[in-house]
Amino acid sequence: MTGRILIVDGVPTNRIVLRVRLSSAYYEVLQAGSGADALLSVRLQRPDLIIAAADLPDMTGEALCQQIRALPVAPDTPVILIHPAPDRPQRMRALAAGADDMLSRPVDELVLLARLRSLLRARHAEDELRLRDDTRRALGLAEPPAELQCPARVAVVPVQADVSVKAVVGTLRTRLPDRFEICSPDEALRLAGGAPEVFVIVDTGSVAGAGLSLLTQLRATPPYRQSAIVYVTRAECRHEAASALDLGANDLLADGFDAEELVLRLPKQIARKRTADRLRSNMRDGLRAAVTDPLTGLYNRRYVLPHLTRVAERAIEKARSYALLLLDLDHFKTINDAHGHAVGDAVLIEAARRMSANLRPSDLVARIGGEEFLVVMPDTSENTALLAAERLRSVISKTPFTVPGLPEGGRQVTASIGVALPRRSRTEPPEILLDRADRALYVAKNSGRNQVALAGGDCALLAADPVGPPPRAAAAGP
Ligand code: GH3
Ligand code: MG
Ligand code: MG
Repeated sequence: MTGRILIVDGVPTNRIVLRVRLSSAYYEVLQAGSGADALLSVRLQRPDLIIAAADLPDMTGEALCQQIRALPVAPDTPVILIHPAPDRPQRMRALAAGADDMLSRPVDELVLLARLRSLLRARHAEDELRLRDDTRRALGLAEPPAELQCPARVAVVPVQADVSVKAVVGTLRTRLPDRFEICSPDEALRLAGGAPEVFVIVDTGSVAGAGLSLLTQLRATPPYRQSAIVYVTRAECRHEAASALDLGANDLLADGFDAEELVLRLPKQIARKRTADRLRSNMRDGLRAAVTDPLTGLYNRRYVLPHLTRVAERAIEKARSYALLLLDLDHFKTINDAHGHAVGDAVLIEAARRMSANLRPSDLVARIGGEEFLVVMPDTSENTALLAAERLRSVISKTPFTVPGLPEGGRQVTASIGVALPRRSRTEPPEILLDRADRALYVAKNSGRNQVALAGGDCALLAADPVGPPPRAAAAGP
């Protein structure tokens, strides 16, 4: 995995040793000899990750961490601190200062590289989501309101019978606001009530690596794919620790199930998971907004055309027919002219509602122009299509529209509809079908409006309208 890594160390040989190792693992390496230089580099060169000595010439590694976390740009850049011989209190202080991990010097390459891969993977995934979020905002789509954050659900899973987690979980319950539950590996794979935000796999029993298969299974279980996973091993299990990170653990407790360490690590994992969830849901909303007409809530042209292509392909595969209805409101301009644009808008909304309420769930109606709608009807015979078109024509014209701004008693609105189905060969491209529906619509308009016309020489006028023109046959071209 590529990444730009900043090494911060006052001792040039330390930097060189690490640079050689990282360069041979294909990372791009930047260097800084002091905390001040490191802060400058973060601002100007935006490294993806920082590895810093705990004792820098001008500040401690912890102070550097705190200053990075307070930067306006890239405050969440991952930081790994390197200490000659870190003890537990030092590690806790480093985590409290915002470091992602503290490793001892000489650095264990196996664990360091696995850590780098895991942190960079998370960072690249988040960058990608942020990029899409920027695009969503650039499209002018509104920022959704911030949600109130409730306590997270955390499932603690001891993977071997000889491990007891009760005491630590008891402490966690008093120190964090989150909801902790203890479950077996089997229960973890079938949790009721949705996915927990975090799984903590406690693999500190006598058989090293017993939790790795659970980790793999959780990562492969669709509802749990976005859950954070924290893996807990014993200090001597360095291979298992590296494997856990490579198999998708988001964080690692390399020295046993320590409540204090989890109190420092869990909130970060929960916050990251929630940020990723929010970005993903923004993206889904953005996609939805991009394919929806904001006035009527119907799909727009951008959505319906590829949908039509898929319906056409499936019709060929299944040797079934399908139908297109192109509906245009009649003399719509006169509604705007007589009552104003806002009333015109309300009429469009009501027309969309009437159409949607009178189609099958498998039919799709889209607004493809100002007062023009396209209905795509899969698995539909000519007879069914004509009946549906007539039903739509009738539900629009029969009852006057009574939207606010119209005189009492409302106003009659009518629509003309062109209907087209693929010809016998069924391989006709959907654009041709759309063109034929358009020509049928033109015929319906020219034949007096408030009518249904079928493309392909046939014609249909299925009902008279009480105040519309008298029944008349309308014929469309080929
Ligand atoms: P025809 O029966 O031939 O279809 O006549 P028409 O008046 O319906 O058609 P024309 O194409 O002349 O006018 C369509 C009108 O639809 C013109 C335009 O101002 C109006 N329109 C388009 N989009 C909207 C919209 O979003 N809201 C409102 N209120 N009016 C719209
Ligand atoms: Mg019109
Ligand atoms: Mg029109």
